[in-house]
Amino acid sequence: MQYLIIGNLIPGLPKEPYRNGVGAYEGVVAHATASYAPDENQVSYFINNWQKRQAFVQYFVDWDSIRQTSDINFKAWGAGPTANKRYVHVELCQTKDPKLFVESYKRYVWLLAWILRRRNLGVIDGKTLVSHDFCSKTFKDTNHTDPIGYLAEHGITWAKLVADVKAEYDKIDVNGDYIKTSTGNPQENEKAVDKVFVEINGKRLSVQGYLQDGHSSLPVRAVAEAVGARVEWFPTNKQIKVNGKDITEEIIGGTGYSPARELAAALGLQVDWDGTNKTVKLSKGCVCDA
Ligand SMILES: [Zn+2]
Repeated sequence: MQYLIIGNLIPGLPKEPYRNGVGAYEGVVAHATASYAPDENQVSYFINNWQKRQAFVQYFVDWDSIRQTSDINFKAWGAGPTANKRYVHVELCQTKDPKLFVESYKRYVWLLAWILRRRNLGVIDGKTLVSHDFCSKTFKDTNHTDPIGYLAEHGITWAKLVADVKAEYDKIDVNGDYIKTSTGNPQENEKAVDKVFVEINGKRLSVQGYLQDGHSSLPVRAVAEAVGARVEWFPTNKQIKVNGKDITEEIIGGTGYSPARELAAALGLQVDWDGTNKTVKLSKGCVCDA
């Protein structure tokens, strides 16, 4: 399993190295946000309030995305000075909905594992993988006990989380493809995803899409222009229209990507997936209920 990390860096953060140097984190702190809200709300809150709160973290995870708010190579302010100079911080956004929890938990487990795998730190409970609760009890800089209570609401114990992160860690391919996400220094935002080819009526495009969580996303403008469709971009509300229809879009490295099925429907194209050749095949001539 691989997930895209959306770069949503908070402007103006301090860049302080970990105690062993820039990029040399020793593990990761698992948190939960304490508020029942999606990651985009958390990001906008912290963009406006990190100075007042004297707090920011590297990542927020919810049920449909992972957002990076500060550079993984530098200290964040997530669990007091002792923990901060050692660890990366990941916040799990809370929900009451069991189905959304399952989705967010998968991303949380994957991200915790990926952060550890990125430096081949292993998954060692109380050493490389710790809770905010552990930091409070061990370092005594803070009094938060997350994410223990929130995970328990959904029937997950700390031991279960550690076991799940271990299992995921062993599955992560450190040599996977890397693409750059949306903002700031590209090094701050690299992340593994599977790239996919795009074919229109049998002809392969020079640009690629990506595969995430079993769904492919395609570069909107390149695909739309290849079939002579009209693309309009509305910067005020960050909305894109293809042939006059609103479609979902994610900007990555300056390129807009949309879910293949949604884009194909807007263009009146049939979409097929060729898993052997990792290719999304679009073709004209279907009866589409677009
Ligand atoms: Zn916390």
